[in-house]
Order: sequence, then C-alpha cells, then structure tokens
Amino acid sequence: MCTSHHTMTAEDLAELAARFAGTLPSQNELTASIFETPLPVPEGQVPPAYEPERYALAGEESGEGTRRRSEQGQDGRRRNLAFPPAPVPLPYAIVDNHTHMDLLDGEVAVTARDALDTGEALGIGAIVQVGCDVPSSLYAVRVAHADARVLAAIALHPNEAPKLEEAGQLDAALNVIEKLAQDERVRAIGETGLDYFRTGEEGVEAQQRSFREHIRIAKTYGKALQIHDRDAHEDVVRILKEEGAPETVIFHCYSGDPDLAEICNVEGWYMSFAGTVTFKNSQGIQESLKLARRDLILAETDAPFLTPHPFRGRPNASYMTNYTVRFMAQYLDADLEELCRDIRANSLDAYGSWGVEGF
Ligand SMILES: [Zn+2]
Ligand SMILES: [Zn+2]
Repeated sequence: MCTSHHTMTAEDLAELAARFAGTLPSQNELTASIFETPLPVPEGQVPPAYEPERYALAGEESGEGTRRRSEQGQDGRRRNLAFPPAPVPLPYAIVDNHTHMDLLDGEVAVTARDALDTGEALGIGAIVQVGCDVPSSLYAVRVAHADARVLAAIALHPNEAPKLEEAGQLDAALNVIEKLAQDERVRAIGETGLDYFRTGEEGVEAQQRSFREHIRIAKTYGKALQIHDRDAHEDVVRILKEEGAPETVIFHCYSGDPDLAEICNVEGWYMSFAGTVTFKNSQGIQESLKLARRDLILAETDAPFLTPHPFRGRPNASYMTNYTVRFMAQYLDADLEELCRDIRANSLDAYGSWGVEGF
C-alpha cells in the first residue's frame, strides 16, 4: 500500500471546478455566515440558522450546493419541511461521520458555515462531508479546505454508477475520483458499495465494477472506505474479501442484522449508526448495536435523509446526530458521555485528525 500525503494545488482544484461551474459555491460562500454575530442555539427551539424567518431576515442570499431534495415524500404528499428543535448539547463533542451539506432540504438553505456552527453548539464538533458524484465530491474537497471542522469523503454512489456506465462516462468519472483521492483533506473513499434496493438487476454489473475500483483507489492512497450497502450485505462482504479490504472500512448507515455485526466485529470494520437505529421497526440494527464492539461504533446523520425519531420524515442536519447518540446510549444502557468519548476516539482512529482542537 502506498500512502500519499500530497495536497491538490489550488490550480488543480480550480481546473476541475471550472468544468462544473454553476454547481459549486465559491470559496467565500463556503466560509460565509448569514449572521453578523453567531447567535445562541436555545434548547427546544429551532436553531436560528434553520428558522425560516430569522434566516431570511438575516440576509437574502443563502444556500449552496449541488442539488435540492424533493418537497414531496415517497407517498407523493407534501413533507413537513420544518427543521426539528435543538436538543440539549452533548456532554462531550462527537463527529458526524457521514453528511451531505450540499443536498439542500427544508424551508431554508443554510450555508456550510452556519450548519457547522449550529452542529458545534450542540455537540457535533467535526464532520465528514460525503460526495456521491463528481460535482458533490468536488464540493466535499472544497468545503474541507475551507473549514477545518470538515474532512472529505469522495466517490460515485452505487446508484450513480449504472447511469454513468450507460452514458459511457464511468471511467472518466473514476479518473476524477482517483485524482481527488490524492488530496490530504480527503480521508475516505465513499460512499461506494452496492444498492440493490433502488437499482435493479440491469445495474448490478456497473455497480460491482465501480465498487471494485473504489476499493482499489482506497488501498492505493491509504484512505478509509465508506460503504453504502442497501439490501446487498452478502455481495458487499464477498467483494470486500475478494479484493482484499482496505485497512479501514466503515459501513455507513449500518443496516445489517446481527450476522453482519458479527462479521464486522471479527474483521474490525466500523459500524456507523444513523437515524434508522432509532426507528421502531429497526430491530436488526438495534440488536447489531448491542453486539457491536465498542471500539467499532460510529455515528452519523446521512443528512438531509433519515431524520431520527420522533422527527422522521422531516429535514435532517448534522446537529441531529445528537438525538441519535442519545437514543444509542439509552438503548445500550450506557453513560452518554462515555459513549460520546468512544465515538470521538473511534472517529479519529478511522479518519485521522481534523486539525481543530479536540479532533
Ligand atoms: Zn448511503
Ligand atoms: Zn449518504
């Protein structure tokens, strides 16, 4: 394995960004706050950055990123687009190791800076921003350079791979991912993996080829591998073993049953729990949490998706990791602060240091 610690030059990034002009915010926008001075985040109230009236009043220009999420739910009905209220801050700050700040949702389009400030006020001190295609991977790298609380994960999502293959663009896109992988702020290749839920039979070959290439890139540059696994546990484990798994493997939004948890425990693969662990019908995930080695537990939002109970269906943001970790501590009958300490330590083991105090 060869580990590269070189950083992409500003010119490299600028050249790539120029190709995707119009989909990416500027460096200044990534560090901008809508508020002149940071506002407190009162418990039980919607954080100021997520409160439509205050955020809109604070400045007209807001929001950034590559896409906006639908205002309708899967049942076709309009979703409740209000962001949930602020929980009590965590006693010890942790990492949200999988989030998509570029995917806008809800009634307000919050800047990266305001999202990070809100998270920090509630006990989420650092994040991993995750890419799903070339523009969002570029966004991840740029925001990781703009704010030290952010590290980047970059990849082509398994649901993107078949579309790219069909358009004859999969190899070109993989080349961009490999180029970006050399950046020092990129610490994971992901989210990659397999998704047999949203992509049918016809997409399996492209997904598997893309997954194998991402494993190779992670190993070549000494990066962690963040896996998206939906209804594909067996094939994900088989391909990981066939290719030889990278040193650090993370099952993002862990969705397995106790069998997969046992495999992760034996292999030393991280299990990252998202809002899904709080859902009433998630027994397999909850039992896995109970079985998981404490040194392999991570936490995430996958925001703006998978908002934890009791706010399911509403927009999600990094500050909501707080609710998920509270549920986990309660479910494990564990001390909340101790669990937070473990999650932060595990995050640093998996990704290395962010370079901000405590992380
Ligand atoms: Zn995913
Ligand atoms: Zn995701």
